Amino acid sequence: MTLPGLTSRAMKQLVTLARILDYRRLALTGQTLTGQLTLKQLPRTRGALAADEAPVIEVSLDFAEDAQRRVRLKGRAAGQLVMTCQRCLQSFETTVAADIAGVVVSDDDAAASVPREDEPILAGDGVIDIHELVDDELLLALPLVARCHRPECRAEYEIEAPAEQISAGERKTNPFAVLQSLKSDEPPQR
Ligand SMILES: [Zn+2]
Repeated sequence: MTLPGLTSRAMKQLVTLARILDYRRLALTGQTLTGQLTLKQLPRTRGALAADEAPVIEVSLDFAEDAQRRVRLKGRAAGQLVMTCQRCLQSFETTVAADIAGVVVSDDDAAASVPREDEPILAGDGVIDIHELVDDELLLALPLVARCHRPECRAEYEIEAPAEQISAGERKTNPFAVLQSLKSDEPPQR
C-alpha cells in the first residue's frame, strides 16, 4: 500500500490507533495510547472540512482507574486540517486540537453517577470505540465559523461590515414601508 504525499519516514511513523478497546483493562494497567488517525477513520470530521487531503491526526490517550474504580480518560487529538473560510470561501489550513477528558461509562445510569465536575464519555459495554470518540471530540473542536488569516480577506470583510449594517436597517423599516404603501393604495370605500 502506498500513501501519496507521505515520505517513507512519515510512513514508518504512522501507527494507526486500534479502534475497539477494552477500556477497563487499559485503565487497570494505566496505559497510554498514542498513534495516528487519518480522516478516513473520522467521517464526521471529514464531512465538515473543505478538502479531502490526508492530514494525520496525532492522538494520545491516558487511561487510569481512580479510587472509586472509575475509568478516567485524558488526552488530546490534534492535526492540521483544511477548512473553507466563511468570508472569502477559500480553503485554508488550521491547527485543530481537542482536549479529551472524562469518565468512561457504559450506560446512562453510570453517566448519572459521574461527579458533576467530570464529563461522562459514553462507551459500549466494556469496550470503547476510539475512532468514534476522536471523531466526535475533533468535530466539537472545529471553529464554529471558519475564518482564514489572510490580510486581504480581513480587509474585504471590514469594508463590507458597514454595508451589512445599512441593509439590516433597511430590512427593519421595510415591513412598515410596505404597510404604508398598502394603506395609500387602498381604494376609497364606497
Ligand atoms: Zn478568508
